[in-house]
Formats: sequence, structure tokens, C-alpha cells
Amino acid sequence: MLETIFTKIINKEIPADILYENEFVIVFLDINPSTKGHSLVVPKEEAENILSSSDESLLEVMKAVKKIAPVIVETVGAQGFNLIANTNPSAGQVVMQTHFHIIPRFDNDGLKHWPCVASSKEERKQLAEEIKSAL
Ligand code: AMP
Repeated sequence: MLETIFTKIINKEIPADILYENEFVIVFLDINPSTKGHSLVVPKEEAENILSSSDESLLEVMKAVKKIAPVIVETVGAQGFNLIANTNPSAGQVVMQTHFHIIPRFDNDGLKHWPCVASSKEERKQLAEEIKSAL
């Protein structure tokens, strides 16, 4: 059984600013927001990351995102949002329980997107072949 800060929020053992909850998911404000309205969507099915979550659970997450993200964006006066699932510590995952960040984005908010790394046409072709043959 997972024991994380998010299971404690789901079980109401610690408080959170809950925006929405149903049988499958809970949505609450991030305690350390990157922008105003930064929220977390956490499936109640216990899993460490999206790769170990069931398809059904992830479908419920996406249904919740489609329901709540536009309302958050509208409420904080944002123009868009990023939906992010950090997966494993090297990708910045700190809480080892599946969750998605909804980060409202504002025109000219100054947040940087991912940097680009150099890649040649040949490298990309070779990599695409490697990945496709591993599928
Ligand atoms: P990640 O780095 O993807 O694992 O993100 C974990 C997120 O959980 C961070 O953005 C934290 O600010 C957030 N967080 C940690 N504890 C709490 C809490 N008690 N209530 C709300 N958000 C939290």
C-alpha cells in the first residue's frame, strides 16, 4: 500500500485546498504553485507513476482534467495551461504517486519551455527506427 502525502490528502488525514473530487480522482491546489491556480490531479487508484496506473484510472484523470482545467484557467484569468506528469526522480518526480500538474499559463508569464538539443536528420531517423522496433 502506498503511503505518500497524497494518500494522506485522499484519506483526509491532512488538509488540502480541494477543488473537485469523485470516486476516481481528487484535484487540489499545489502547495507550492508555479503559477496562480497550479493544481494537481491525483487518481485514487494507488500507483507510483503513469506507467503503473491502469488505463481506466488514467481515463478518469483525463476526464477530470477536461472538466476542471478550463474552469481553473477562466477563474485565474489565464490563457492556457501545461499538463505535466513528472515520471521518476530524474524527471523531477518527488511524490511517488501518479499525479498530473495543471499549470495555468499567462501570456508573457516568463516561464521557459524545454530547451532544444541538437539532433541531425540521420540521428532522428535512426532513433525512430530503434524505438519503433522496440514497440
Ligand atoms: P512532483 O515533483 O511532480 O512529484 O510534484 C509534487 C508536487 O506536490 C509539488 O509541486 C509540490 O509542491 C506538491 N505538494 C507537496 N505536498 C503538497 C501538499 N501537502 N499539498 C499540495 N501540494 C503538495
